[in-house]
Amino acid sequence: MNNEIVPEGLDYRELVATYGSPLLVLDQAAVRKQYRALINALPGVRMHYALKPLPHSAVVAVLKEEGCGFDLATNGEVDLMLENQINPDDCIHTHPIKRDGDIRYALEYGCKVFVFDNPIELEKFLPYKDKAELLLRVSFPNPETKVDLSKKFGCTPEAALPLLRKAKELGLNVIGLSFHVGSQVPHARRHVEAISACNQIIRDAASENIQLQVLDIGGGFPVNYGADGADFDIYNFCAPIRDVLAETPKGIRKLAEPGRFISAPCMTSVSCVMGKAERFNRMWYYLDDGLYGSYSGQLFDHIDYPKFAPYAQGEAKPAVLSGPTCDSIDVIAENIDLPDLDVGDVIIGKMMGAYTWASATEFNFFRKAAILVVDSDEAAQQKRAAA
Ligand SMILES: *Cc1c(COP(=O)(O)O)cnc(C)c1O
Repeated sequence: MNNEIVPEGLDYRELVATYGSPLLVLDQAAVRKQYRALINALPGVRMHYALKPLPHSAVVAVLKEEGCGFDLATNGEVDLMLENQINPDDCIHTHPIKRDGDIRYALEYGCKVFVFDNPIELEKFLPYKDKAELLLRVSFPNPETKVDLSKKFGCTPEAALPLLRKAKELGLNVIGLSFHVGSQVPHARRHVEAISACNQIIRDAASENIQLQVLDIGGGFPVNYGADGADFDIYNFCAPIRDVLAETPKGIRKLAEPGRFISAPCMTSVSCVMGKAERFNRMWYYLDDGLYGSYSGQLFDHIDYPKFAPYAQGEAKPAVLSGPTCDSIDVIAENIDLPDLDVGDVIIGKMMGAYTWASATEFNFFRKAAILVVDSDEAAQQKRAAA
């Protein structure tokens, strides 16, 4: 555990004194930066931010300003779009399995694009033939990612053409294909394979006079969770994806549904030591946030976030970092090197924007961390103006 340099002008101790603890500091500048890096890495691809990893208005507002679209999957996410006055034409609904009420709710809002992956789901759109535009989700298994979504959703590539034929028979408007190769992928190989396979399905469909117009390459784009804090080189990562997208049949519109890449770097968890005890020759520090709260992603998303004691001095010794609840599994780090900490000292976790707050619980009635919104771009501008 390193002693991380605190960004100029941002003193986590002052934030805790003012706003209490635990906190999640959400920097809108980080959202802006990630979005711009991704559109630069994938020119010609229309981005729809997947709301699931961090469904928060502070993120939505920045992305709206930047011209990004949105990928929603639930009625609650439709409500978030309504609250932020997002144009429904900028939205796609990508949950492959829906209730009739979910389809109607999204249609009433004005979102027209939906995803299906099987005949039963397809037939749910019969009453909405004139309005709904459908994407067929194809599955490309990816054992290399810890979050492989291909088991749960998507038809096999072999089933795609028969489903497209069936949709045509039923008079349903399938506009294209989508897939999701799994989250935080180690390299772009699966994206490339999936895009090539979809290009082939698009050509095969065209030869049967089924003209598709859209290819949605999903999410999965990774970030760097290492303690070095270095930015992930997304431009380089996407090079093979750019190459294979260039081979996509003419006239096909390209979409993507990035979630983690946009939101992971924007939040820093700030929590405090609420007690300490020596047990079996090791110091246990009990924080006021833990695995049932902001660190829930360590369980659900299998991520080990970089953690720092930014103000602590002295020699680091092996210690245990525990969450606050009375449950024994609520341990954030079993073996972490920490300088001696006092009750009230601050611990921060970096890269905690995606799949953290979104999956946090209030188990044991420990309230979820409050989100504090800042914009370091604006802060920097004000500072320059004042100078
Ligand atoms: C979760 C999800 C995403 C976002 O995936 P990331 O790996 O966070 O980029 C995109 N599309 C769908 C359909 C999802 O379920």
